[in-house]
Amino acid sequence: MKLCMIGTGYVGLVSGACFSDLGNHVICVDNDIKKIENLKKGIIPIYEPGLSELVQKNYKNNRLNFSTNLKNAVSISDIIFICVGTPTKKNGSAADLSQIFNVVKEISSSISKFKIIITKSTVPVTTGDEIEKIISMKLSKKFFSVVSNPEFLREGEAIRDFNYPDRIVIGSNDKKSNVILKNLYSPLISKGAKYFNSSRRTAELIKYASNAFLATKITFINELSNLCEKLSVNIEDISIGMGLDKRIGGRFLRAGPAYGGSCFPKDTKAIIHTADKFKINLSIIKSVIKSNKNRSSLLLNRVLEILNGKIKKKKICFLGVTFKANTDDMRDSSCLTMIPSLIKQGALINYYDPTGKKKEFINISNVCFSKDIATAIKDSDLIIIHTEWNDFKSINFKKIVKNKKFKIFDMRNIYSSTKMNEQKIKYFAIGR
Ligand code: NAD
Repeated sequence: MKLCMIGTGYVGLVSGACFSDLGNHVICVDNDIKKIENLKKGIIPIYEPGLSELVQKNYKNNRLNFSTNLKNAVSISDIIFICVGTPTKKNGSAADLSQIFNVVKEISSSISKFKIIITKSTVPVTTGDEIEKIISMKLSKKFFSVVSNPEFLREGEAIRDFNYPDRIVIGSNDKKSNVILKNLYSPLISKGAKYFNSSRRTAELIKYASNAFLATKITFINELSNLCEKLSVNIEDISIGMGLDKRIGGRFLRAGPAYGGSCFPKDTKAIIHTADKFKINLSIIKSVIKSNKNRSSLLLNRVLEILNGKIKKKKICFLGVTFKANTDDMRDSSCLTMIPSLIKQGALINYYDPTGKKKEFINISNVCFSKDIATAIKDSDLIIIHTEWNDFKSINFKKIVKNKKFKIFDMRNIYSSTKMNEQKIKYFAIGR
């Protein structure tokens, strides 16, 4: 099939590359000229394991192409996936849909035969209705169908998640579109993916409900870890004991820093905004947002405790600054709250991240990037393990760190407290 992905970011590029790998002809469009030029040269704009190889293979095979010409890409494609960003509005909590509607207006003037227009971007319930209204002003409904096909991939595992999704949700009542889309996804369905056909509004809401639920799960275990710390109970054991119950499940049940990333923070806010519009109080999600906001302050208080109330001039090293491992995504990472706060209190921050130096810290004085783990930690008073990269799982701290009184605050619980005690390392974790 001929597909067009509009927006070549985490979702558009990964889905485009994966669809082309399944044998479709895909054009990935973006209005970022540099990004498209780079992609044509084989330079991948994001860090995502396996993506570079997949893009290069399918670009060479001529099944995957890149363009800035949206109108042309739409006119030669059968299925149009909208994958642009839907960030939180400035000074508000609603989703900013300006990128979506800009694209929709452009699409309307490029259609002369039947196209399926799909929102893969996360959009508030009823956005599909609005898109349909906008396009109908220019085109007869026989030329298009608007479908919701929310994306559930996780950064860092995106290619696997695309190829082996738990479910594919298609929100449409249009029979023709449903047949075409079931066929498009048939290679994944035959590998075991569940295919769920719902109304468009339902599909839109499923995405927000799923993200809000996962954010709740993380927040739940984070709060419980605070109680564990008072009781000498290990939160890891609680997670295992709870997760063994199939009704609960162990995933997204690991205590750590505040959740971040490009989805949970903005999607929890947006669903509250939608519910408020309909005068419905989603009080659980409101509490989740509040608790998550407090999480970074709580962990900062623990840093203060660990350093016996003295943060000024302390050399603190962050291992990992992205919101989770295996991605370069800094959006809403809890580091963006914690590092500036520690700097304000007089700390000297060094950080290492496997995905390199971050533009977010360039203008903050006393925040330095080190190009490897050993350089980053060697002069530290406190090492904070902030993300769960495999690179951080077997460091010989005693050998590398010069200051023999150094401490470790493992916010991901990747080391064993017993082994650290045996080595006489002052080690602090979450919920233990
Ligand atoms: P992103 O910011 O990485 O990518 C969006 C891309 O769209 C950018 O490259 C931007 O230049 C491009 N763009 C914006 N306006 C355009 C236009 N008019 N024409 C062409 N290109 C345009 O965003 P993302 O992380 O890929 O997220 C996209 C959507 O998917 C969001 O709604 C997000 O909530 C949702 N989503 C994201 C993830 C994730 O893990 N990142 C997972 C599931 C769903």
